[in-house]
Amino acid sequence: MPTVYGLFGPPGAGKGTQWDLYEATSTISYNNLSVGNILRKNVAAGTPLGQAAQAYMASGGLVPDDIINGLVIDEIKNSSAPVVLDGFPRTVGQAQALIDAGITPVVIYFHVDDEIILKRAENRIVCFKCSSTYTRDDFKPPVVEGVCDNCGSTLGRRSDDDPEIVKHRLEVYRSETLPVLDVFRNHNVKIFEIDNSRSAEARKQFAEIMSNN
Ligand code: AMP
Repeated sequence: MPTVYGLFGPPGAGKGTQWDLYEATSTISYNNLSVGNILRKNVAAGTPLGQAAQAYMASGGLVPDDIINGLVIDEIKNSSAPVVLDGFPRTVGQAQALIDAGITPVVIYFHVDDEIILKRAENRIVCFKCSSTYTRDDFKPPVVEGVCDNCGSTLGRRSDDDPEIVKHRLEVYRSETLPVLDVFRNHNVKIFEIDNSRSAEARKQFAEIMSNN
C-alpha cells in the first residue's frame, strides 16, 4: 500500500492551494487525488458519475458515500506513487471505509476562520480544464489576467463559491466532516494541525510535515 496523506479541513481552507505550492517545489512525484476535481471533470464531460454527482455538488451538499468510496479506495490500492487525498474522507462512513481497507493516512488538518474562508471563496478563480487554482488578489494571481498559466484556458469562478452556498458547505463540514477526526483519533491516526490563516508560515510547516512523514 502506498503512503497516504490526507489533507483535512473546511472547504476553502486552502488545502489545494498549499498542495499546489508544495508540489511545485517537490522532487517526489505524488498521486494527487482531489475528489472535487475528479467530480467536476466528470460533470463537465457528462459521464454517469458526473450526472449522479451534479445536483449534490450544485447545492453544496456531499455526494453519497457509495458513489465516492470505491472510486477513491481503488485508486489508492492501484497507486505506485504516494497518494495525497484532498477532500476525502468527508464523512464518518468514508473514514471507516478507509480504515476497513487497511489504509492509515497521515492527516494534515488546516484550520481557518469562516470569515477568511468566505473572503477566499470570493477571491478564488479556477481553471475548469486542468483544475489549477488562482486568486484575484496578489497571493497567487495568474501571469496573464483571466488565463491559466498551466494550460492557457480561460479562468472563471466556481458556482459553489457563491457566499450562500459556501455557508451551506461550512454547515455540512461541521455536521458531516468534523466527526471524521474522532474516527481517526480512535484508530491512532497521526493528525498534524496547521493554522492556514497565515499562508507563508503554513507553507513552511506543511513542507516539514511532508518531508518527515
Ligand atoms: P471541493 O472541490 O473539495 O470543494 O469539492 C466540491 C464538491 O464536490 C463538494 O461540495 C461535494 O459536493 C463534492 N465532494 C468532494 N469531495 C467529496 C467527498 N469526499 N464526498 C462527497 N462529496 C464530495
